[in-house]
Amino acid sequence: MTQTQTPPPPPSFAPAIEADYNRTHIDFRAPMPRPKVRGPVIDFHCHLFAARHAKDWFESAQHYGIDAFVSMTPLEEVAGLLRDWPGRLHFIAVPQWMYEGPDFYSDWLRRIEMFYNLGSRIVKFHVAPQTILKRDRLDSPRLRPIFDEIRARKMMIMTHVGDPELWYQGKYADTNKYGTRDEHYQAWEHMLEEFRDTPWIGAHMGGNPENLGRLQYFLDKFPNLVLDCSATRWIAREISNRRDEAREFFIRNQDRILFGSDQVSGDDRGFDFLASRWWTHRKLWETAYIGPMPITDPDLPPDQQPTLRGLALPDEVLQKLYHDNSARILAKANIQLG
Ligand SMILES: [Zn+2]
Repeated sequence: MTQTQTPPPPPSFAPAIEADYNRTHIDFRAPMPRPKVRGPVIDFHCHLFAARHAKDWFESAQHYGIDAFVSMTPLEEVAGLLRDWPGRLHFIAVPQWMYEGPDFYSDWLRRIEMFYNLGSRIVKFHVAPQTILKRDRLDSPRLRPIFDEIRARKMMIMTHVGDPELWYQGKYADTNKYGTRDEHYQAWEHMLEEFRDTPWIGAHMGGNPENLGRLQYFLDKFPNLVLDCSATRWIAREISNRRDEAREFFIRNQDRILFGSDQVSGDDRGFDFLASRWWTHRKLWETAYIGPMPITDPDLPPDQQPTLRGLALPDEVLQKLYHDNSARILAKANIQLG
């Protein structure tokens, strides 16, 4: 693979088909007021993969009142995006996911330096069960040089630990192969203990929106941990499933949760596809909407597609979710977006 190629999306991403992202025939171009928030709305977890996707991305985002983005973007695309969209993007240092060579970690170390020189102050570890199988656990000695580098540079950390509980019960059921969820969270806890003073973002509701008790334990134990609420189908399904308990959780932990979509750009993903994700998040957090999810959920059979149940969070909670909490974390590294 040449260094300038954009990595192709993982093979699990099927081409965008309208029936999959708008099965309820919503007019995603219908006007929607901006979130009632002072300051820019920040999407703290997304994947704007290439500069050529930015026009549709920013058009759709603007329609939904989303101003600035913390994105996981291949290093090769970063300089052009920084030039064309100044002040709108912060890039998380990520490895070259598709790298198959022998020195994945030394390549990642070099990338961290280059991302840092372009302004990045967050490093992401993807340690979902399938990734652990291919690479290493979060507390593996092989990751030690990366953690040493993060500490030396005073960078922040984002992790994807866990995955949907439906997957643990399904494709990860072989625990000899994948390990157990408890083991994955023990590894995370070890590293959180070692990095207690480092701001740490637990992606996708800490990877376990199905177990808010576990998340509360982690939040109470680690004051520098925050969660992002990204992923659309997974989070909307599981938050809706326990709507009242989730609403309590968001209000109780209103200083500790960042808005994120997990939006992923692509050559076949135009305005409406991108809109389907932001539309769903906004209905979920801001409104009391109860109705069918517009996006097809491949984890459930066609006749059991999920119902979206909005949390209708109070205005002061939305202010923190959409802006204040993200701005506060970014300010620790002197970053201002929007
Ligand atoms: Zn993501």
